[in-house]
Amino acid sequence: MKIAVIGTGYVGLVTGTCFAEYGNEVTCVDIDKTKVAQMLDGKVPIYEPGLEEIFQRNIAEKRLNFTTDLVEGIDGAEAIFLALPTPPNEDGSADLSYVLDVADKLGPLLKNYVVVINKSTVPVGTAEKVKSAIGKNVKIEFDVASNPEFLREGCAVDDFMKPDRIVIGSSSGRAIEVLKLLYEPFAREGAPILFMDERSAEITKYAANSFLAAKISFMNEIANLCNLVGADVDNVRLGIGSDPRIGSRFLFPGIGYGGSCFPKDVQALQKTAKDNGYQFKVLDALIEVNEHQKRILFERVKAYYNGDLDGKTFAIWGLSYKPDTDDIREAPSLYLIDDLLAAGAHVQAYDPEAMANVEQHYKSAPGLKLTTGSYEALTSADALLILTEWSMFKEPDFTRIAKQLRSPVIFDGRNMYSPEVIQEHSFYYESIGRPTIKP
Ligand code: NAD
Repeated sequence: MKIAVIGTGYVGLVTGTCFAEYGNEVTCVDIDKTKVAQMLDGKVPIYEPGLEEIFQRNIAEKRLNFTTDLVEGIDGAEAIFLALPTPPNEDGSADLSYVLDVADKLGPLLKNYVVVINKSTVPVGTAEKVKSAIGKNVKIEFDVASNPEFLREGCAVDDFMKPDRIVIGSSSGRAIEVLKLLYEPFAREGAPILFMDERSAEITKYAANSFLAAKISFMNEIANLCNLVGADVDNVRLGIGSDPRIGSRFLFPGIGYGGSCFPKDVQALQKTAKDNGYQFKVLDALIEVNEHQKRILFERVKAYYNGDLDGKTFAIWGLSYKPDTDDIREAPSLYLIDDLLAAGAHVQAYDPEAMANVEQHYKSAPGLKLTTGSYEALTSADALLILTEWSMFKEPDFTRIAKQLRSPVIFDGRNMYSPEVIQEHSFYYESIGRPTIKP
């Protein structure tokens, strides 16, 4: 099938490439000229494991094309996917201007029946808004469907190729046939394709992300309590995770959730509730808990140095909001770096993939040095702070860490190391929800 994907970011590029992989002819449209030029030059503009190989294969086989021109991009397409940003407005609601701008432009360009499929995470009622925006200027028949995306950055290709479920919100039989045809190859292993109305599909995405954010936040609070009462959250995690009603996944405490989705999606659902006269108290608490958790490591570091961080130097390992991505949107690392710099400390930071994004975010920040390797970050630092659980940090050379640091102190925001290993190397070691280890 001939498909257009409008917006070629983490979702759009993966969507387009994976549909091409199954034989569809895909054109990805983006307004970012630099990004499109890079892709036309055969370069993947984001870091996403497994994407490069299928990207190159489908370009070589001429099933994957890129353009900045919307007219050229949608020419002959039977399905048009919208994978556009929906960032938060000041009041927490989702900014729909990207989606509605494109919908406005699409109307006069449509020549044949087409299904416009919204993959962006959007508030309930958006399918209707997109339909009326397109419908203002159109003479042919078209349908709008809601198809929220559940892929996770870092394993986006796998998630797209082997989804847990595919959610399709549409009341049009014709649109459902098009989407069935497109998605059936991805459901061969038994993942359900769930058909529902547009509004339920839109809410499903927010409910999923908010539920996951709640699971993390609950564990973060349990971890904070463990710290106060001398329990070990790892034991508690295993103790509750073996109950299938709870499940063992997503129970790892840390320094708060970040990324381009959870924070904005929880806020947007809270706003939807409010706009409908409902106070969603769980979401209110969730936002408050996460704000606190993002700052917890800073508070712990400050307490260790008796409130005086002026002139201290901290090594940071990990800047992306989670491993296997270069994405730093709403990353807890940015909050910590800001707090450390504001307190007069120096930061020497390293991340295997996110350095370019961090450099662009800070431009020139006196006090912040981005290093070329993980061990370079340690040189003459007062302590090591671990913020993202990249595999490369899992089994480091502890002797080298101890030697390069000014003193052997680690604050581990991701509970990367076993207490036994840390004890062997005589570190002072604080982690989240586990007893502090003193040399
Ligand atoms: P992104 O910022 O990585 O990509 C969006 C792309 O759209 C950018 O390349 C931008 O240049 C392009 N764009 C903006 N305006 C455009 C226009 N008028 N025409 C063409 N292109 C335009 O965003 P993303 O992370 O891919 O997220 C897209 C949507 O998917 C959001 O609603 C997000 O909430 C949702 N989502 C994201 C993820 C994720 O893990 N990133 C997962 C599921 C759902």
